[in-house]
Amino acid sequence: RREYEIIASDGTRKWVLELGQGIFNDQGDVEALEGIIFDISGRKAIEQKLKHTSEHDRLTGLYNNEYLINVLDQDTEGEPPAARAVVSVNLTSIHALTAQYGLRYSLDLINAIAVTLETHCTKDRMLFSTYENSFIFYVKSYETINVLEDFCRAISDTLKSVLAAEGIAYGIGVYVIDNAKRLDAEQILKNLMMISEIAMSNQDRGLQTHYFDESIERQIHRDLQLRNELDNVCAENHDGGLFLQFQPIFDLPTNRICGFEALARLRSDTLGLVPPLEFIPMAEKTKLIHPIGDKVMLQALRFLKELEFQGFPDICMTINVSVLQLLQGGFCTSLFEKLQRLDISPDRIGLELTESIFASDYLEINRTLAILKNAGMHIAIDDFGTGYSSLAREWELNVDCLKIDKSFVQNLMDFPPEKSIISDIISMAHRFDHYVVAEGVEYESQRDLLKQWGCDKIQGYLISRPLDPEGAIKLLKEQG
Ligand code: C2E
Ligand code: CA
Ligand code: CA
Repeated sequence: RREYEIIASDGTRKWVLELGQGIFNDQGDVEALEGIIFDISGRKAIEQKLKHTSEHDRLTGLYNNEYLINVLDQDTEGEPPAARAVVSVNLTSIHALTAQYGLRYSLDLINAIAVTLETHCTKDRMLFSTYENSFIFYVKSYETINVLEDFCRAISDTLKSVLAAEGIAYGIGVYVIDNAKRLDAEQILKNLMMISEIAMSNQDRGLQTHYFDESIERQIHRDLQLRNELDNVCAENHDGGLFLQFQPIFDLPTNRICGFEALARLRSDTLGLVPPLEFIPMAEKTKLIHPIGDKVMLQALRFLKELEFQGFPDICMTINVSVLQLLQGGFCTSLFEKLQRLDISPDRIGLELTESIFASDYLEINRTLAILKNAGMHIAIDDFGTGYSSLAREWELNVDCLKIDKSFVQNLMDFPPEKSIISDIISMAHRFDHYVVAEGVEYESQRDLLKQWGCDKIQGYLISRPLDPEGAIKLLKEQG
């Protein structure tokens, strides 16, 4: 039984199916063959059409993702070429163009990009259209890594010329396949996807081509573990590895600790102690900041209650709040409900927000801040001076405190004090009835200058590092 293609006497090509069998003599040897040949051209045409459809992208006519998976797996299972790599080309903002100019326009553009990229194809460089905004080259048998790099540069140059006018950004990710690892297509494409994402998120820095390496693999692995830890923190009946430390805020006129800033900490068996500058951004990216922020709030308020029992009913607590939390409906209600349940007066609570509020829905946030401030809470702009807002806009906000970023305070050690703008910030803040907290105060000389300039409160290692609850209580007791 065999299917094959023939050329008929009139020159046309036909597919045929031949069925045959041997005729045996008495000795058991084949004496003759008998058989029959069918014309299967019709069936073959349909089959080929189906195969074509299943292997190609309808829009661009390029090979599709399924076919890429087949090709990769076939090569891995067989005798893979010594050098091979997958190169992804990802485009952003096509959707924005659709919204502006219509679907036809963006589809035509994707087609035009496909045609341009296709000019880079050879027998060892196949192009696939995997998703709407992304293309993948499968590059084989290149002599050196330089050849691969030249190829990526050439694609980048081509894209630049096509996309510059459209204002579309792109990122190129490269995953060099290590044959020894025998990864299947799914794993290869997963790694490529990771490096593509990194390439996309770095595109404004002009680094369009990114290569996957072991450190990225480690980082991704760490991110996954961190993600699991954060999920664990969000469990209903416990806080996982989340806990708080408290850093004293010191009132300069009275020379006393007047409050604490709650600083989130995460301890995990696998990762050790993770700094908030790593896990808070991850929590924001994964939207887990909402439950986590809620738990931070509750732990901080409970500690405030504990301070009350310990005989310190006037101490205040400031809590860092992400803009995402404020933008979620119900933030105020949930906070007021907690205060009421624990019987805590709102004027003992401060919220710290960074200047990133100016980059988001500023009016909406300012309305929420008004509600909180009118209830008696203190609202501080954290890391003041590091953001992109102008002083002029700061005063439109419903806040009553500025926290001068520690970089300004640190500069006091390296530059003459008359060059510092801290004193100007303090007097302007006071003119608007805002009080000022200086952060990162480590030396007495810094404290003395700040006091001289009329700064209201200071915070920093000079007073104390962030402390566990027991340490914070001990410090208050020592103060008397
Ligand atoms: P931040 O709010 O500016 O917190 C002050 C940071 O400066 C803390 O770092 C603190 O340990 C550190 N610090 C305090 N005094 C000194 C000093 O004298 N010298 C120096 N060099 N550093 C000092 P930490 O705890 O690593 O927190 C980093 C950031 O993480 C915080 O900056 C805050 O933006 C964020 N963060 C912490 N907890 C939370 C939270 O519960 N929610 C949100 N949204 N963000 C948080
Ligand atoms: Ca803060
Ligand atoms: Ca700060």
